[in-house]
Amino acid sequence: MPHAEIIAIGSELLTPFRSDTNSLWLTAELNALGIAVRRKTIVGDDELFLEETLRDALRNSPIVITTGGLGPTEDDITRKVVSRVTQRPLVLQAELLDRIRQQFASRGLVMSPNNERQALVPRDAAPLRNEYGTAPGLVIQEGDCLLIALPGPPREMRPMFTAQVRPKLETLAGSVRLRTRMLRVAGLGESQADSLIAPIYTRYANPTTTILFNNTEVELHFTATAPSDAEADALLDELVGQVEEALGANVFSHRGETLEQIIGLRLTVKGYTIATAESCTGGLVAKRLTDVPGSSQYFLEGVVAYANEAKTRLLGVPAELIAERGAVSAEVAEAMAAGIKARAGATIGIGVTGIAGPDGGTDEKPVGLVYVAVAGDFVTTHRKIILPGDRDRIRHLASQAALDLARRSFLL
Ligand code: AMP
Ligand code: MG
Repeated sequence: MPHAEIIAIGSELLTPFRSDTNSLWLTAELNALGIAVRRKTIVGDDELFLEETLRDALRNSPIVITTGGLGPTEDDITRKVVSRVTQRPLVLQAELLDRIRQQFASRGLVMSPNNERQALVPRDAAPLRNEYGTAPGLVIQEGDCLLIALPGPPREMRPMFTAQVRPKLETLAGSVRLRTRMLRVAGLGESQADSLIAPIYTRYANPTTTILFNNTEVELHFTATAPSDAEADALLDELVGQVEEALGANVFSHRGETLEQIIGLRLTVKGYTIATAESCTGGLVAKRLTDVPGSSQYFLEGVVAYANEAKTRLLGVPAELIAERGAVSAEVAEAMAAGIKARAGATIGIGVTGIAGPDGGTDEKPVGLVYVAVAGDFVTTHRKIILPGDRDRIRHLASQAALDLARRSFLL
C-alpha cells in the first residue's frame, strides 16, 4: 500500500495564531482510502526550506500532497518551487487564464496582472479546477511519485480533493481498505484500562490499537486493513467485541459519541428527565448536558448554588447539615441531588460539591476533593473522588464523574 506525506505551506501556520487543519482533514481522507501518512511538515513561505522539503518528500514518498502557496501574491511560492524542483519550466495555459479572467468578470471585477501567475503550470502538469477560488491546483507524475499541490483555503482545498484527487488515489490505493473504530471509557485511568485489555489487543497486529487520554476520558482507537470494508469490519468486530467485554460498563461510547450525548440518548429512550445542582463546577454539568441539540426534551433546570445559604434556599439543604458536615461532604452532595430532583420534579437529580482550588484546601479536605451525587425515585447515592490538576481540570473531571455516576446508576 503506498504511503503519503503532506506539506502544509504558509508562514501564518508557524505562528501561534493559525493551525494547519488541512493536514488533519487530508489525513482522515487518505486513511479512509487505506493510505497511511508517514510524515507531515509545515514550512513557511520560504523558497529554500520549501525546496529542500519538497526534494526530500519526492525521494521518500510515492504520494506527496502540498497545501497553500498557490495564490497570486509574491509570498505564494509553491508553483515556482515545484517548477524548480521538478525541472519543469512554467508554461502559461491559455484556457486557465481565460477561466480566471472570466471568474473575475463574473463578479464584476477587473483582474489585476499578478493573477496571471495562477495560469502558469509546470510543463506536463495537469491543473485541477478550483470551483471556489481562482488558484488552480496541480498534479504532476514525477517518476514514481505523484505530486499534488492544493490551495490553502479549506473551502477550496476540500472540494478540489474530493472531486478531483480522491478518484485518482482510489485507483492507486487499489484494493486495500482501512476502517477505524473508537471506544470511549469512563471511570478508568489509561493504565488501568490498558492492563485490562493489553492481553487481548497484543494478540492482534491487525487491527492496531491505540490508547490515549483526551483530558477527560480514555479513548481506544482501532484500525483494521483488509481487501474490503466488510472484511476490515469483521476484523474490528472480533477484537473490539472482546475489548468491550473486558471493560464492561466502563465503555460508554461505541461510535464516538460524547458522554453527554449518550446520556441524552438514554434519557430520551427511557422517557426520563434530569436536573442539576452544582457548586464547584459552576454550571458545567448543565452546560454539557445542554450542549446536546434536543436536550430540552429531558433537561429541566440547573442551579448553581455556591454559597451555603443558596444551597439551603434554592435546594432545601438543611443549614444544620452544612454546619455539621461541611459544604463539601457526601451528605450535602446527596441533599443537593435530592433537593433539585424534588424541586424540579425530575426523574434524576445531580449534585456536585467540591474544592476546585487553588485555595480553600485543608489536610482533611484537600484541593481536588469532590463529592458527586445522584438522586432517583428510590436511590440516592454518591461518590467521593480526589482529582488531580488545576482548577479547570478539576472542574472538568468533576463534571465527568457526575455525569458518569448518573449513567451508571440510572441509565445503563
Ligand atoms: P494560500 O493558498 O497560501 O494563499 O492560503 C490562504 C489561506 O488559506 C491562509 O491564509 C489560511 O487562512 C488558509 N490556509 C492555508 N494553509 C492552511 C492549512 N494548512 N490549514 C488551514 N488553513 C490553511
Ligand atoms: Mg499562503
